[in-house]
Amino acid sequence: MQAEIRSENKKPETKKKFDVIIIGAGPAGYTASIYTSRAKHDTLIISGVLPGGQLMLTTEVENFPGFAKGILGPELMTAMREQAVRIGTTIIDDEVVNVDFRHKPFKILTYSEEYETDTVIIATGATPRKIGVKGEQEFSARGVSYCATCDGPFFKNQDIVVAGGGDSAMEEAIFLTKFANKVHVVHRKDTLRASKVMQDRAFENKKIQFHWNTIIEEIKGNQKVTQITMKDTTANKVETLEVGGIFVAIGHEPNTKLFKGQIELDDQGYIVLKNHTHTNIEGVFAAGDVHDHRYRQAITAAAFGCMAAIDVDKYLSERKM
Ligand code: NAP
Repeated sequence: MQAEIRSENKKPETKKKFDVIIIGAGPAGYTASIYTSRAKHDTLIISGVLPGGQLMLTTEVENFPGFAKGILGPELMTAMREQAVRIGTTIIDDEVVNVDFRHKPFKILTYSEEYETDTVIIATGATPRKIGVKGEQEFSARGVSYCATCDGPFFKNQDIVVAGGGDSAMEEAIFLTKFANKVHVVHRKDTLRASKVMQDRAFENKKIQFHWNTIIEEIKGNQKVTQITMKDTTANKVETLEVGGIFVAIGHEPNTKLFKGQIELDDQGYIVLKNHTHTNIEGVFAAGDVHDHRYRQAITAAAFGCMAAIDVDKYLSERKM
């Protein structure tokens, strides 16, 4: 399906060659563009299908510095976008369908145009895996969350569920016990994938209860989540938990399909950085969750965007491009 094209600032329909093209418009992409535009490099952001990234799907953001009373995720991303445009970035809401990094200038093909550029910053992020059950989409940001660090404090004194059995699930469950009354870890197997040290920490925590060989069947609620229906697949028994929310921690998929075969990826598909924010291809840089599977925060993605932009500036200046 063709994305809606909305051009801002510089009529990109007439301009096809840029100093920097940034693929992705989350905190990493917008921050990178603010830096490259201020450094007087002609910058285009191609925003992709969800301009603003994961924060467009959240409500309150309390941990991004500078907002004493917190800010709504979409408002934060709109402000970043307006700041990028004011400083001189061109943004188009189109989707990249192919890239050619074999020759310079690099070629970036969208649904509607082909662009050329001296440098690229890949800031396409990662997508949390979904369980894929009824109610998950409906209650997203209304009790269904994919980030305990972001949303944990909204669940004070409530009973909540964490789905998953890896390190993320254990880390999130342990973190959530700071706020929650009780944390139910629901895992589809009878053993955890998490490292021994994380398992031990979770087992020692009296607020965590494990539900083994159990799959989530449905997430229910009214305005917000109120119930989880789950099934013990060994006993073939369905049970309902009265909870205020569910944290889905079953892994992330980095958005790197486009770059396979050209950019070096690790075994989980994340971009491998070579020297600070450089990729294996000279002139192609990466920033944010597309390479960072450790921190995954808006503020760290923004910081990586800044770093990539500084590296791009240095690269272009050294070559006087
Ligand atoms: P992960 O290691 O891939 O674990 C995903 C977990 O979710 C597994 O237990 C898996 O179950 C379960 N799962 C996957 N798809 C599911 C589905 N459709 N329905 C229900 N359950 C499902 O992912 P992660 O925990 O996000 O960790 C990613 C990487 O980051 C790992 O290398 C991890 O070690 C690392 N990490 C490290 C730390 C730390 O050291 N503190 C913290 C976080 C992450 P199965 O076990 O049945 O496959």
